[in-house]
Amino acid sequence: KNMQSEDSKEQVITEGLATVKTSGNVFYNQVQEFNRDLSISVLNVFSRQYQKEKIKKQNDNSGQHEEELKVGIKNENGITILEALSATGLRSIRYAKEIAGVKQIVANDISRNAVENIKLNVNENNVEDLITVSENDAIMLMYQHRLKERFDAIDLDPYGCPSRFLDSAVQAINDGGLLLVTATDMAVLAGNSPETCYSKYGAISLRIKSCHEMALRILLQCIESHANRYGRYIEPLLSLSADFYIRVFVRVHTSAHKCKFTTSKLSMVYQCTGCDTFTLQPLGIVKTSDDNKQIKFKLPVGPSVGSACEHCGNSFHLGGPIWSAPIHCMDFVQEILQTAPTHLKTLKRIHGVLSVITEELPDCPLYFILERLSGTLHVETPPILAFRSALLNAGYHVSFTHTHKTSIKTNAPAKVIWDIMRCW
Ligand code: SAM
Repeated sequence: KNMQSEDSKEQVITEGLATVKTSGNVFYNQVQEFNRDLSISVLNVFSRQYQKEKIKKQNDNSGQHEEELKVGIKNENGITILEALSATGLRSIRYAKEIAGVKQIVANDISRNAVENIKLNVNENNVEDLITVSENDAIMLMYQHRLKERFDAIDLDPYGCPSRFLDSAVQAINDGGLLLVTATDMAVLAGNSPETCYSKYGAISLRIKSCHEMALRILLQCIESHANRYGRYIEPLLSLSADFYIRVFVRVHTSAHKCKFTTSKLSMVYQCTGCDTFTLQPLGIVKTSDDNKQIKFKLPVGPSVGSACEHCGNSFHLGGPIWSAPIHCMDFVQEILQTAPTHLKTLKRIHGVLSVITEELPDCPLYFILERLSGTLHVETPPILAFRSALLNAGYHVSFTHTHKTSIKTNAPAKVIWDIMRCW
């Protein structure tokens, strides 16, 4: 149980299998327990898969059986993790105690107070053999690991915007490694300050009803653009909006060839200033020739900002670029659902959110909000289940999203949506 100790500035916190002390001036946020629980669930699955892949690669495993691979995993030394912004060290200590197959964790912070706090907590939890405490600017530390001793996983959990850490992070991670990134500057990402969003993330945010998903997609494109500079690209495993922050889990792979396909995974967003209808325009369409030898790039043709919306006649705002490819790997999410550790306090919430995510349509970026549709037409809001049935009966796919209760994610064209609303 969390409690104030005698020194009113000091708190004793028990979370998962760790108990830590934090002095008043070192950052601790209880609301982020869900973030830490989820990260533990993700890292457990990643650690297993990553080591299996490593052994397969090493052994060119053609004839090997599952059992042999498991033995191989035991013999391997496990994954290395950098928690670049560690504060109390709570997250690192929990990673050490609650993730199977960890070889070494570096818990780093720039603040002397925080580092003293981490050292104390590491000792009290008897995890000195697994955790190295470091007092460094996270950016400098990651650049030092750019060419040698890269990490298998890097966790970035800063105050506000993570973008300043991305250039070094995408270089300090092993091929196929996992990058875990939190962003809490939701106002910037959700369209309140599009110019700041551009300077921080390289994309214009929009005040759009699906702003939380758009925020995830802006962050993903930002990580991809940093990775691309070094012949690397990302594979999103899970992207989540919760409470006051977003969190993405992406693998970083190396392949200059695959970087050429990035423009196909990015789109500009046209948002109608009258009815909020949105249209996506890919930055470019990349295909390989029939013999797979040549890459062909087609410049897209799409709506222009000055043209009128076909539904209401108003003009468009232009936002993006956003990541418009899938934001989760469904097999990976299923695996988390099946294996998330049972001792986690927020397990029920993890199951709830991930179950909705498994049903999200993977190829339909962004979504409509039912109340906004009826508000625009000044009509009564139809029951959401009836509205979804109408779309299904018309032959389209439809799903909710984890980011909004009354979201309509669908592959139906906007015209069909407005027709259903008008005929209601
Ligand atoms: N990950 C922690 C957790 O789960 O409890 C919370 C981290 S807190 C939001 C951010 C921390 O980053 C602070 O302790 C701060 O001292 C540290 N920090 C800020 N800038 C830094 C930098 N450039 N390098 C390393 N640490 C930094």
